[in-house]
Amino acid sequence: MPENKWTIQSANELYHIGSWGNGYFNINEQGNLTILPERDSSGPVIDMSHVISEIKRQGIAFPCVIRFYDILRSQIVSLNRTFRKIIEDADYKGRYYGVYPIKVNQLREVVEEIVDAGSSYDYGLEAGSRPELIAALAYNTNQYSLTILNGYKDEDYLRLGLLGNKLGKKIIVVIEKLTELPLLLKLAEEMKVTPIIGIRAKLSTKGTGKWSESSGEKAKFGLSIAEILQAVKILKDHGKEDCLKLFHFHMGSQITDIRAIKDALTEGARIYTRLVKMNLNIEYFDVGGGLGIDYDGSKSTNDSSMNYTQEDYIEDVVYILKQICDLEEVAHPHIVSESGRAISAHHSCVIAQVVDHIDSCYTKYPTDKSIGEHILVSNMRELKKELTEKNIQETYNDAQQLKDESINAFKLGILSLEEKAKIETMYWKIMKKILNFMEDKKFVPEEMWDLEEHLASQYLCNFSVFQSVPDLWAIDQLLPIIPITRLNEEPDQLCTIADITCDSDGKINKFINPEEEKRTLDVHRLRDNEDYYLGIFLTGAYQDVMGDMHNLLAGLNEVHIFCDDEDPTDFYIEDHIPGTTASEALSFMQYNQQYLTRTIKRNIEKQVQRGKISPKEGVGLVNFYNKCLGSYTYLK
Ligand SMILES: *Cc1c(COP(=O)(O)O)cnc(C)c1O
Repeated sequence: MPENKWTIQSANELYHIGSWGNGYFNINEQGNLTILPERDSSGPVIDMSHVISEIKRQGIAFPCVIRFYDILRSQIVSLNRTFRKIIEDADYKGRYYGVYPIKVNQLREVVEEIVDAGSSYDYGLEAGSRPELIAALAYNTNQYSLTILNGYKDEDYLRLGLLGNKLGKKIIVVIEKLTELPLLLKLAEEMKVTPIIGIRAKLSTKGTGKWSESSGEKAKFGLSIAEILQAVKILKDHGKEDCLKLFHFHMGSQITDIRAIKDALTEGARIYTRLVKMNLNIEYFDVGGGLGIDYDGSKSTNDSSMNYTQEDYIEDVVYILKQICDLEEVAHPHIVSESGRAISAHHSCVIAQVVDHIDSCYTKYPTDKSIGEHILVSNMRELKKELTEKNIQETYNDAQQLKDESINAFKLGILSLEEKAKIETMYWKIMKKILNFMEDKKFVPEEMWDLEEHLASQYLCNFSVFQSVPDLWAIDQLLPIIPITRLNEEPDQLCTIADITCDSDGKINKFINPEEEKRTLDVHRLRDNEDYYLGIFLTGAYQDVMGDMHNLLAGLNEVHIFCDDEDPTDFYIEDHIPGTTASEALSFMQYNQQYLTRTIKRNIEKQVQRGKISPKEGVGLVNFYNKCLGSYTYLK
């Protein structure tokens, strides 16, 4: 069989880096993954293995979240520039005012970086709860940019918003349910401030993908047309109709199909223009979030993909809105969008070390014939000897049957431990050989589908699925996972990933693949004395801040990387946020460090008094316990 030579191009194709990477990732001649924060090889190109070495040199432990703030900045610039360009090309009369929804990644540094990168575009923030507003009030310092308040609101949430208006900030309170409106008007009067009001419409158009329930008639947010008309009446009754400045809808996150976006825009634009014709001076048209990320690189309507580009999306927003405004002879409003996922997904990744591999089907046990062995053992050996490409199916069936019989025989006490070990070993050898025969076959019988996953080894990774990729566990989100090094070597192993929690859900057996998701990942054979790291990418939206502490495996070390302005291959770690220690993780669960230490110390002292432990050893043990309390929660 002629072997095609493995190149870094082959690795690029196998892992689909070009499809999901949006130009930010590539592979260099050394076979290492590289980061291109400007999506251009004439800009900075950072070797990820150098980043890992630098993290190690600084004594920071893995697993680790790595944030490339230059990618975050690029995404902001790209969104704003594209909007500006298309608005200009379309001769659209309004401006673009984007806002970043804090809930997508609430980390202060992320929000700060976004505000800073967006300042020249008057890019603002969106809050969906009172605590988020508390942050947004302090961090949106640009008097021209918007702060949009969504979500359900109590009095204090509304008062905080009005406080912002008093400070001269452009805070827009979006009415999500009708009862918020009279309350807002009452509080504004009390505080002697003019509110800026938005209304969220509940569109009839439903989204697509996992979050399609965020819109449509049964959505939990927004006002129906009847309620919008009621709201307008309330405003007019109070003489406050001029405070209504923004029209909003949100279709749900990760819209997979551009048709849903077109439909929603058409419906939204019609409502907007008809409202304007009721003598309402609405200035902003807010299309919400939903701009997707192509996690699996398939450019399809898969849940983890999208069948359009950012540019397609922006063109639809601008041109559809323009067309309907022109038809209805209504002035073009300013356009607001609330893209979160599309801004923050690319900038962060999780790097975890593979610490071991687990073979589910051990085949190294000696299976030589022994005198007087059980007939089941002999039969299995016979099957193995006679397996050829022509009798795959029969052999597969017979092997299954023999294995089942041997389990029963063992339960009845007829088989010895050694005989059972031999049967299992030969069974797995047969399966491996069958799998090899199947490799070039187009048609694979259904019952053999599981074989590949079964025979793949598990790579044990020092991280927790529940902490680092909760969306993968909770909602079947697919994420690109690839080795960081050795990409110039052909991967010759298939694996699934096991994390270090004691939970059988703590595994990854779904991997991106344009046709149909794969159940195994292509990886390299582990080498002694050589670290092997896997990177989980596109983790910067939502799951970054949604992890939980299963098994008390808690927050990860984080490093924030910036490119060096002088040297395009260099970078520096601007900040290191230490991960959670065992003692901090325990204290979240109400354990008291002093109590823990004191109790263990007392126990040890008792054993010292009894002469079971020497005083010197006792001191050592107390110190060791304390050291563990103060250390990172992951494997060392
Ligand atoms: C969550 C949310 C967003 C962000 O959506 P993305 O799909 O992440 O862009 C925007 N607006 C509202 C009202 C939201 O609830």
